[in-house]
Order: sequence, then C-alpha cells, then structure tokens
Amino acid sequence: MKIIRTVNEMQETAVSLLKNNKTIGFVPTMGFFHEGHIALMEQAKQENDIVVSSIFVNPLQFGPNEDYEQYPRDEEQDLTYADTAGVDIVFIPTTQEMYPRKMVINLDISDRVNVLCGRSRPGHFQGVVTVLSKLFHIIHPNKAYFGRKDAQQVAVVNALIEDLNFPIELVALPTIRESDGLAKSSRNVNLREKERKDATWIYKALENGRQLVVDGEKNPDIVVKEVLDTIDTHTSGKIDYVELLSYPELQAISVIEQEVILATAVYFEGARLIDNLLFDKNGKIVERLFK
Ligand code: AMP
Repeated sequence: MKIIRTVNEMQETAVSLLKNNKTIGFVPTMGFFHEGHIALMEQAKQENDIVVSSIFVNPLQFGPNEDYEQYPRDEEQDLTYADTAGVDIVFIPTTQEMYPRKMVINLDISDRVNVLCGRSRPGHFQGVVTVLSKLFHIIHPNKAYFGRKDAQQVAVVNALIEDLNFPIELVALPTIRESDGLAKSSRNVNLREKERKDATWIYKALENGRQLVVDGEKNPDIVVKEVLDTIDTHTSGKIDYVELLSYPELQAISVIEQEVILATAVYFEGARLIDNLLFDKNGKIVERLFK
C-alpha cells in the first residue's frame, strides 16, 4: 500500500493510472477507521482495479463550537486497517496542502441543506462539497463510496455529482452497526459509559417509528412523535432533531407515499450522534441507492 501526502503526487499518480486504463474507486474519510469504513473499502476493492482512500479531518466542515480538535485520530492504526482491507493508495494531505490559502471560490448549496444536520450545522455541507470537489479533481475516481449513515451527505453528494457533471458513480452502502444496533462511528469512543448504553435507544427508536409505517401508518407526524418519545424516555441525550422527509430530495411531506428518510441527531456530552433509516411507503428498508 502506497502513502501519498501531496496533491501533486496524488494527481500525477491518478492521471497515470487512468492512462493505463485502470479504474479508480475512492473512499473519502476522516480516519479513525471502524467496520463502516472497512465495508466501503472492501466494496470498492471488488468493483475497481485500484482503491484510493483519503484521510483528512476537513476543518471547513466543522463549526466554531464543534469537535474539530476532539475528533479522534490514529494514523498508524488506520494504515494497518486500510492495508488489510485491500486499499492500494492512502492519500493523507495536511490542511496546508489542501488549503494553501483562503478559498476564493465557494460553492453555494440552495437545497437539501436547510433540514436535518444542515440546519444545526450551518456551513457544514458547504465544507463537505468543497473538500469533495477538490478530492474528486485530485483523485479522478470512476466510483466514489459513501455510507448511508450520513444519508444527508449522500443526498448532497448526489446533487453535487449531477449538478456539476462529475463523471463519477456514487455508491451508497448500508450503515454498519454494533451488535446492539448503535451505528458505528468514530465519535462513539468519546461517549461516557452511561451515554454509550443510552445510545442504543437511537436505533431502537427509529425502528419503532418504522414499525408504525409497516403497520400502515401514513402520517409522518405520528412516526416522528414515536421516535421523539422513545429517545426522550430512555436517554439522557438532548434531541437535536427527529425528521421524516422525502429522500433524496429531503422535502417535508404530509403523507408517506414514497421513499423517505427517518433521521435523528442526539447531543450527548461526549459526542453528537446521528442515525437514520431509509424506507419505502410500506416501511420496507431501501437496500441500495443510485444503482
Ligand atoms: P467519516 O470518516 O466519518 O467521514 O466517514 C467516511 C465514510 O464512511 C462516510 O461515507 C460515512 O458515511 C461512512 N461511514 C461512517 N460510519 C459508517 C457506518 N457505521 N456504516 C457505513 N458507513 C459509514
């Protein structure tokens, strides 16, 4: 496995791979790998000649009072995991390498961001699309792999690729969970012991909500209330939001009659956790998106 730390070397390597008719699968990450990241890498390995994964904790996507400094990092362990997963190239740029000066060109996102995490994290998705646009130009992937755990990110990246005609196929893979249902996240290590136990209720609450739809409920407000009540009753966390919206458009709906996202974010002292379920009008989980 090769480690590349400069934009120039990464770009030259990618161009030369493409000249040799190699396909590139790209897995962008912020590091501190867990099985969620590994699943993306393994899928990329199956579908491409070369797998490139980036590790970059992107300051642009963190707000002033967010956990940029506390975000867990462990490069040595990440390299071992990536190697085992079959990654061919790890791109690890410094902040200076990615942003040598203040950006002059800024992307404006008009839709899909005034709900869910976009509402409570102003500027977050602008930071995400900025770094991804740069990484796409540096790495030239044929396919890019994302986790549905960050389903709003997937919806925004889908728009980025379509609106700006990046010649990239978006692959969005299912959320990998702990055995008790908690969605795997690099941030889980920052949870206190009691918070970690409470956190299992996030997935249970979403599942309770989905079950109502399986049983015939069509009113999003009733489903949302079920999730709110369950999280409220069983955890010490402060709920940021629970929302049920159309997917991937992320529009408010009054009747559940299409594919939807049921999503929540909960603040614990140690970390802010997010989770979601994507399902159809009958409550059936949507297995694979955009493919
Ligand atoms: P991050 O390092 O948190 O930015 O995540 C990098 C990629 O891994 C993103 O596309 C995430 O959606 C994805 N990811 C993170 N956690 C999970 C998970 N539990 N299951 C599947 N994908 C995940």
